[in-house]
Amino acid sequence: MGYCDSPGLKPIADALTQMLAAVEPCCEQITQPIQSAIGFTLAQAVISPMFVPPFNNSAMDGYAFRAADLNDNTELTLVGKSFAGAPFEGEIPKGGCIRIMTGAPLPDDADSVEMQENTQVNGSFIQFQGKVRQGQNVRLRGEDITNGQIMFEAGHTLRSRDIPLLASLGIAKVNVYQPLKVAIFSTGDELTTVEKPLKTGQIYDSNRYCLNAILSKMNVEVIDFGIIADDPAQLKDTFLQANRQADVVITSGGVSVGEADYTKDILEQLGEIGFWKLAIKPGKPFAFGKLSDSVFFGLPGNPVSALVTLTQLALPTMEKMAGAKPTTALRLPAITTHGFKKDPGRTDFQRGIYQVNAAGKLEVSSTGEQGSGVFSGMSQANCFVILEQARGNVAAGETVNIEIFRDYLN
Ligand code: AMP
Ligand code: MG
Repeated sequence: MGYCDSPGLKPIADALTQMLAAVEPCCEQITQPIQSAIGFTLAQAVISPMFVPPFNNSAMDGYAFRAADLNDNTELTLVGKSFAGAPFEGEIPKGGCIRIMTGAPLPDDADSVEMQENTQVNGSFIQFQGKVRQGQNVRLRGEDITNGQIMFEAGHTLRSRDIPLLASLGIAKVNVYQPLKVAIFSTGDELTTVEKPLKTGQIYDSNRYCLNAILSKMNVEVIDFGIIADDPAQLKDTFLQANRQADVVITSGGVSVGEADYTKDILEQLGEIGFWKLAIKPGKPFAFGKLSDSVFFGLPGNPVSALVTLTQLALPTMEKMAGAKPTTALRLPAITTHGFKKDPGRTDFQRGIYQVNAAGKLEVSSTGEQGSGVFSGMSQANCFVILEQARGNVAAGETVNIEIFRDYLN
């Protein structure tokens, strides 16, 4: 252990490694029409069933011919035409050419195309100006995609821009995994829903909105159990129901060591759960483990801590459960515009605002107050400023790593 490690705290990388090792893909395969397949993860590789383009065709409007016929001649006889959807079907005799339009099939007799701007029509003869290179202006069969080519590996999550590619290959349906079923609830006697006025000592439950908002941008099925009071019987009942109905159970609150934190006792009866103190800030208390039929993530109650542990630990683990290949957020070095306060011993995920400065360099500033309850910073930020475990205070002008917020946070 280095001088800067805090005893008893688990480094975030170790936590993630342990979590990923503990889970396996768990979703059934289904067939999905491509128009409703965005966000689904492929259960099987997609193989191209055809060549693209499917036939040799012209890249220009002009004339198609054999280049050898122009060796000692600058004029060819016009013998027909090939238009997109209406190919030329005859033979091109020696010294002949055909009119051809962009995308139209190139007859087997021809090997080159000259664009019309470089030709002159003399009755039924076409005069060619300039040099011709054999094969010019021809798009060859299969030059983009060959028959049997792997287009996507299993585990690829389909994006909107993948769909037209599938359509262009005549693939109407894909084999994908069913979305994960995710049960969520908030715990705490102090919590109330946004529909009600606050009574003394109450706060609004924002974590469930955080979870719902982020999960709504992912291809998962959410089962929302609402707010559960710090009541052992009610908590146990909710855990049992959630475990029965979902693949994943995510709660917030009640994982730290506090008077009213019953979650720990109940979970120890229901499954094999680790209660960790993570070497990250914010987000120290975190629970992870297995219930009889689901995987459990216990996020800390503090809203920023809940979001950081969700994105850094729970979502990557869920990605594996969903059958997806791991994806990573974009991390880039940026220059700080001012100092950042930091104690060595934990990895900080501070909220930052990056921009490209006048010199074209990436720079980052802080959103200000970095308390784990300060959610306004999360809203103002566009990146995490990741300050390594061993690092102390950061001075203006130092380079730090930033993590650009992923799609689901925007
Ligand atoms: P806990 O982890 O339950 O001790 O909660 C830590 C802090 O987060 C306390 O100040 C809680 O009031 C707050 N908190 C817990 N759950 C939520 C929630 N769902 N929404 C907003 N704040 C919460
Ligand atoms: Mg609580």
